[in-house]
Parts: sequence; structure tokens; C-alpha cells
Amino acid sequence: MKKFIVVTGGVLSGVGKGIFCASLARLLKECGVKVNVLKIDPYLNVDAGTMNPNQHGEVFVTEDGYEADLDLGHYERFLGEDMSRRNNITAGQIYSTIVKRERDGGYLGSTVQIVPHVTDEIKHRIESLEGEVNVIEIGGTVGDIESEVFLESVRQLALEKPFGDFMFIHVTYVPYLKTSNEFKTKPTQQSVQLLRRAGLNPDMIVVRTETPVNPETIKKVALFGGVPQDMVINLPDVPNVYSIVELLKNLDVHRKVARKLNLIIDDTKFSWDYPKEFKQYRIALIAKYLGTDDAYKSIIESIFLSGCIKPTVIDAQNLESMNYEQVCDVLSRFDGLIVPGGFGKRGIEGKIKAIQYAREHGKPILGICLGMQLMVVEFARNVMGYRQANSTEFDPDTPYPVITLMEEQKKILQLGGTMRLGAQPMRIFSGTKLWQIYGGIEETTERHRHRYEVNYDQFPELFKMPGEKGYKLTISAKSNFIEAIELEDHPFFIGIQYHPELKTKVGRPHPLFKAFVDTLSRLT
Ligand code: GLN
Repeated sequence: MKKFIVVTGGVLSGVGKGIFCASLARLLKECGVKVNVLKIDPYLNVDAGTMNPNQHGEVFVTEDGYEADLDLGHYERFLGEDMSRRNNITAGQIYSTIVKRERDGGYLGSTVQIVPHVTDEIKHRIESLEGEVNVIEIGGTVGDIESEVFLESVRQLALEKPFGDFMFIHVTYVPYLKTSNEFKTKPTQQSVQLLRRAGLNPDMIVVRTETPVNPETIKKVALFGGVPQDMVINLPDVPNVYSIVELLKNLDVHRKVARKLNLIIDDTKFSWDYPKEFKQYRIALIAKYLGTDDAYKSIIESIFLSGCIKPTVIDAQNLESMNYEQVCDVLSRFDGLIVPGGFGKRGIEGKIKAIQYAREHGKPILGICLGMQLMVVEFARNVMGYRQANSTEFDPDTPYPVITLMEEQKKILQLGGTMRLGAQPMRIFSGTKLWQIYGGIEETTERHRHRYEVNYDQFPELFKMPGEKGYKLTISAKSNFIEAIELEDHPFFIGIQYHPELKTKVGRPHPLFKAFVDTLSRLT
């Protein structure tokens, strides 16, 4: 058995299609169905790795080192399962496969066309999904020129498969007009028309709204959308997105889907446990991508899933323009700090000041990837007195290159997919705080995405091994590279070269975030 649920979006992007797909997949999983999820990104980038997080949200890295759209993060967290490169396709991948095949003579004699060559390739990728039910999220909004070929592919595939193998769900937005006190369904009507023009009829319409809609609105959407009234589902904004799995169940969405796809489901074992109460610690996320919270999605969700309210995003560039006293003043209002990953010079001096503040004032701080690298820079500058210490990413001529390009990165000229990526093994040293946080294990893997590393060979004097004396950065985990550092006489000063936020699942936040929040409980 292999069934497909195609989820399209209407009216606006960013209405929560990804969360809906993840929640639906989890609900079906709870009903005993083997589910898989596929995100289709109609852009021409081969993957999300080269995109600016300000526009497109964070780059989510999978175990197998694929740089994906952030929706794969939602899928992982909600489903509690690891995704891989097979869970995402982009138009860039499809077209480059076709063009390469053409150059290799794979289509000798034919004119290579969107239909059937591109559509066949897309259909092939969709058919190779392994779930009993495969939820396919088509990115963007219906009517976008880029997504047309994907809509055409699922249209063809649905015709080729037996009746009942495909279901189409359209997620749209219904705005509320305060001035006239009414919900407006016209944009939704029009987006359903666009869907029909592509040859697709929705089986279910999910209406996203700010507040719950009235029955007349549901009726209207059903009438103009061409679906029975019970197939219009209203999902108003909720404070906790993890409640949506439960919400969908209460709305009987699993039974409606099962009816359409002739699925046998069993919801008697449904259990969905997610945090509902949140500690009120104020955590500052010292950030540079300020366009959208999506740029730091996995970190924000990792804190939330560790049972604390979401962190406040603080502009690192703002800190940069302040003097140290002013920085201390701003940051003293927070219980803990996180310095996230990032690329490029902008805002790094602000992050370094924040790290200095945390180190000198015993404020819990977690430095992730770039954050950890800057902890080393800060220590070199302010403790060792190497005033011009830096990463060669920001100052190629620094006399103190405490962070440098990894040897194997030096010969790489291409930028896409060439970093140190995905799950890499490391050794955690016993007796360190990190080792305690990991429950006493000494070997594990964590996910990476970086080009630079700690330059231990040239600057061993900054570091010490656990148990050694002196005010230095303790190395708490290693592979060929230094993977983690910590300070002993500090409640929580931990830097890691990897991205723990990528491994958080609902009910299983990464232990580092859990430990960070627990430390705040101990201190406040
Ligand atoms: N820019 C740094 C590097 O490439 C850090 C990367 C990151 O934070 N993901 O090493």
C-alpha cells in the first residue's frame, strides 16, 4: 500500500503549511500508519544551503549532511524521526538531473521537455517514497510560476494511480476585516480557482485564521471550494503549535483522511505528549538575522521544548555599537544567553562583548558553532591579552588566528554543499560538564555545518584537558577537531562546534538545552 496526501498552499506563504503537514503526519503515525513526508521546494537552488536565513529561515542540516529547508526540522521534531536528503526535492535538483542526463546522451534523439521529461523525473522521485502514507508539501503558493510543473506532476500521478490513492489538501488563509467585522473568503475562493486551473480539486480545505471563524464562513468556503462542509477545517492561531496534533484529532481529521484514502487506522493508542507549561526565564539570543524568527527556528523550538518560554532575539549589531558597560546593562536583564551559528562579519563584535559579559559575570551561556568560535576569540583577546585575535573568516591577516579554515576546506572553491556537514563522531571527555549533560556517555555523533575550526595546533596555551589546573578553556569533546569547550569555574559556559538544536524532538529536547534551562532553574 502506498498513498499520497498532497498539501498545497493558497493566498499567502507562511500560513503554517509545514506545521500542518508535520502535525497531520504525526497524527497518522499515532493511528498506526507508517508515514513519510516530502517537502517540494520549487526554487532553482539545488538545496537551501546557499540561501540567506533572513529570507528563507534557517538551513536545517540532516544526519546525512543535506542542507534542507527548515520544514524538515518541523517534520523531525513532530514525527520524532530523522529526515534525510530523500525528504526534500527542489526544482534545482530536478533540472540539474535532467540537464546532466541530456549531456550524457540519456535522451539521444528526443527533444527534452517539461512534459514528459521533467514531470517524469518528479513523479519518479515521489513514487520512490517509502511511507504507507506519504505527505507531500508543495512549497510556495498555488499560482506561483515555479510550482506549476510540480502541480502538473501530481495531477498526472493521481490519474495514473487507482482511485483513492491520492488526496489533495489546500491550506489557505482567511483574513478578518475589523472595520466591517467579517471574515473574507474571496482570496481563498480565488486560490481554489487557481488550483482547479492546474487540474486539481481539493478534497479538504484547511482555513487558517487569526481567530476561530463562524459557521457561515465555513459554509461559504465549502460552497466555493467545492468540498463538503465537513471537509473544511478551521485552524485558528494557537500559542503552542504542538497542540495542533491534538486539535486535528479532535476535529476528526485522521478519520476524514482515512475515509478518503481507504485507510484502516486505530486511534485508540493515540498519545501525544508535549510541553504545556513554561518556565519564564528570559533568554537572550544574540542574533544577526533579524528578518524572521525562522532564522533561528530550531534553537527557539529547542528552548520551548525544554519547557521554557521562547528566547528574545537581541540584535548583535546593536550591542556592537554600545560600550561594554551599556552591553552589561542590557544583558543583565536576562537570565541566560545563547550565541548562535552564523556566517560573515556583521555583528560579531557585539557577540564577543556578550560572551565577555557572560564569562565575567557568571551568566549561563551556550555558544553554538560560530558562538563557540567567538568564545575562543574572546578568551584569546581578554584573558590571554591577544588583542587582535580573530577568526580568519573575519580578519584573514590577524596575527592571532585562533580560528582558521579547516585544512580540507582550503582547496574547495565551490560554495554549495561543501562545508563539513551532517553527523560526525566525537569523543566526550569524562569528568566534564558536557559529559555529565550527556549522561556519562563518551562517544556520540552530532550534526555539523561549518568551514572553520579551532586552531589548537598554533594556540594550545588557550586550552587544557579536564583535570588540569589554571584558568583556561577546558576541551570537553574532540574528534580531529575541537568539538566542545567549557569553563570550570562558571555555572554554564559551554561552546560546541556542532548544532545540538537540530536533534531536538518533541518529548526529547537535546540534553544541552535541557541542561541550560535546568541551570537557569538552579540559579534564579
Ligand atoms: N562561519 C563559521 C564557519 O563556517 C560558523 C558556521 C556556523 O555557525 N554554522 O565555521
